[in-house]
Amino acid sequence: MSKVLPILKYPNPTLRMKSELVEQIDGDIVALVEDMFETVVAAPGAGLAAIQVGVPLRIFVLNFTNPPRLEVFINPEIVKREGTQRLQGEGCLSVPDQRVSKERAQTVRVRARNLFGETFEYEASDFWAVAIQHEYDHLDGVLLIDD
Ligand code: ZN
Repeated sequence: MSKVLPILKYPNPTLRMKSELVEQIDGDIVALVEDMFETVVAAPGAGLAAIQVGVPLRIFVLNFTNPPRLEVFINPEIVKREGTQRLQGEGCLSVPDQRVSKERAQTVRVRARNLFGETFEYEASDFWAVAIQHEYDHLDGVLLIDD
């Protein structure tokens, strides 16, 4: 059964770790992702990176709305960035009570693997483009409060 995991909070030093590539998508990875889905819904949050639950692997999940849908991005790479935007009130589950307005690309295209190991690409603009860049930053130990 999947479970809600504790979310590490700034300034926990684990949040600064650079996450490693996932070598093999095995049962442990599937269980981790299911727990991350449960955790991001419970928070609730738009997205969650594995390092935020203490696992330094290149995995993040997004909790899409309208319609509700959970998606995992394993070993993601941002393959296109276009334009710029500043979202008002960007937040982070690991940095509660802080809202920032950070310059981000308007549109991004991300290439990643799903739980079946299949490569897919996903393009997003506006809010979800910010969410992808935010979660991607976590994989390199970067937080929204950084310059
Ligand atoms: Zn965050």
